[in-house]
Formats: sequence, structure tokens, C-alpha cells
Amino acid sequence: MLTRALVLKIASLPPVRHLITRGRPFRKLVDRFVAGETLQDAIRVAQQLQSRGMKVSIDYLGESVRDRQMAEAVVGEYLRVLPMLAQAGLDTQVSVKLTQLGLDIETDFCRNNLERIVQCAQGAGGFVRIDMESSQYTQRTLDIFYILHDRYPNLGIVIQAYLYRSEEDIERLIGCKASVRLCKGAYAEPASIAYPKRSQVNAAYRRLMQKLLLYGNAPALATHDESIIRDAIAFAQDNNISPQRFEFEMLYGIRRDLQEKLVAQGYQMRVYVPYGEAWYPYFTRRLAERPANLLFFLRHVLR
Ligand SMILES: Cc1cc2nc3c(=O)[nH]c(=O)nc-3n(C[C@H](O)[C@H](O)[C@H](O)COP(=O)(O)OP(=O)(O)OC[C@H]3O[C@@H](n4cnc5c(N)ncnc54)[C@H](O)[C@@H]3O)c2cc1C
Repeated sequence: MLTRALVLKIASLPPVRHLITRGRPFRKLVDRFVAGETLQDAIRVAQQLQSRGMKVSIDYLGESVRDRQMAEAVVGEYLRVLPMLAQAGLDTQVSVKLTQLGLDIETDFCRNNLERIVQCAQGAGGFVRIDMESSQYTQRTLDIFYILHDRYPNLGIVIQAYLYRSEEDIERLIGCKASVRLCKGAYAEPASIAYPKRSQVNAAYRRLMQKLLLYGNAPALATHDESIIRDAIAFAQDNNISPQRFEFEMLYGIRRDLQEKLVAQGYQMRVYVPYGEAWYPYFTRRLAERPANLLFFLRHVLR
């Protein structure tokens, strides 16, 4: 967890960001986690995944937008993405970040932007999942979610197991039949609000996962952790929970072997497919998650 905080801190330094985003040698590494820079890249990847029995959630990369026009451009992009997914015969699900839709500018502006995307998804028979960002946004993200979820059941949310508050949040979300994607959490958070140890996060994940499997509405278990996935499968079997009542989700480019294996075993598998030019923060979170990624990256730099 300490490594994660350090990597994210170093990555946020302007000279480091400049070096990585301008350096062509890093492109290959970025391509491992990002489908490409254009919507066509994302659709191509989605078609490949669908042909292998997987569903997708498309994410137009970006966050921390502080300019109204830019936030509106993001809405425009999602209004283009949703009908194109439907036309291409693909599963019509997108993932959005509220700071990309103007949460740092004004709450109502952000909520209206989200509502336009959710309405468009509804028209296309699609679904919108709100990603969860760092803890300074958790409450505001949930507030916006609850207001819109009352009117739009095709809106879902993400909960991070590392936050102490998540147990209560999940109970309320189960109570209003919201679809929850459960992840461990990707940001550097202080021990005052989040479990500092990996073992504690894993234990919290298992607890919340069991609750969602028993009582949740179409829960999405977003993890590449094979031992947690094994436990989820055993728990579902022991409690007669059909594989159709939940899904596993993984990130594009991570544990493709496990993705294929789960599909072959008859489980629903959704892959989060990010695309766009604003890949830097997403990429650094993926580096920070795993020391091996970082070593690979440093070897590249030294060469
Ligand atoms: C579909 C999806 C949506 C997500 N949405 C959010 C969100 O909205 N908010 C948020 O905070 N986080 C989000 N995350 C990220 C999540 O919080 C974790 O940071 C990330 O999934 C790594 O945790 P893990 O559960 O895979 O377990 P870990 O214990 O971190 O990893 C288990 C194993 O998975 C593999 N692995 C994991 N990460 C990597 C990597 N980066 N590179 C290579 N191999 C890796 C390794 O084999 C590792 O041993 C999402 C994750 C997924 C899958």
C-alpha cells in the first residue's frame, strides 16, 4: 500500500508525466492496458472480446475535468459511443467518472451531464456504471447516484472494499436494489478511512462479496484475485446462487487467461475497456497496483 502511494505521488510530478506521455518507448506498455485512442479502437477490441464470449464496459478515459466545455465534450462522446455499441450489436454498457463530467465544477452541472448519458443509454437499452474515484468524492458520487437511480434503474455504482464505510454503503445500496460493482480500490487512501493492509482489504472484499451474492441485484465482482474468485464460486455453489445472477469483471489486458477460463466454466465475464487520449492517470494506477509492472516499466526506462 505504501508502494502504491509512492508510485502515484512520483507519477503525478509534472516532469515524470511529461517524460512518460511524450516518450514513444512507453507506448507499448500503455497499449497493454488501454484499447487505443479512438472509439474505433474500443469497438474493435469489444468485438474481439465478444467473439470470445465476453461482455464489455467501455470507458472514455479522463478525470479531473475543470472546464465546462471539456465536460460537455465528454458527454458528447458518450452520446456517440452508446448508439454505436448498439449498432455494432455489442453489449451497451459504459463506465463513467463523475470528475470527468464536471463534479469539480458544480454538482448540478455534473448530475445533468450524467443524466443525459443515462437517458441515452436507456434509449439504447444500455447501462451506465459510475466508477468510484478517490475518497474526497465518495459521498458526492453516492448522493448523485441515489437521486438518479430512483428514476433510472439502468444506473449502477462501484464500491471500494478498502474503505471502512463500504459495509454501510452496501447495505443501503442493497436496500434500494442498486447494482453494485465491487472492487478493492485503486487510490492511495489514509489509514484513518481505509484498511492499510492487503490482508484486511481482501477480508473486507470477501465479506462484502458474500453479502452482494446473497442479497444484491446483479452484483459485479471486479477483481483479478484468483483466490477470491475461487471463494466466490464456492460460496455461490454452496448457496445455490446461479452463475446468471452475478458477473465477474476484469480490466482489459489483465489476467486474460483467467478471463477465458471463467467463460469456459460458464461464468459471465465483463471486461472494462478504456480508450482515449487521457490515459495517464489510469495507466499510473495500473503500474502502482503491481510491483512487477513497475519493474518492467523501470527496465524500459533504463534501456
Ligand atoms: C472492472 C473493474 C473496474 C474497476 N473500477 C474501479 C473503480 O471504479 N474505482 C477504483 O478505485 N478501482 C477500480 N478498479 C481497480 C481495483 O480497485 C483494483 O485496484 C484492481 O482491480 C487490482 O485489484 P485486484 O482485485 O485485481 O487484486 P490484486 O490483489 O491487486 O491483484 C490480484 C492479481 O491480479 C493481477 N493484477 C492485478 N492488478 C494488476 C495490474 N495492474 N497489472 C497486472 N496484473 C495485475 C495480478 O496477477 C495480481 O496478483 C476496478 C477494477 C476492475 C477489474
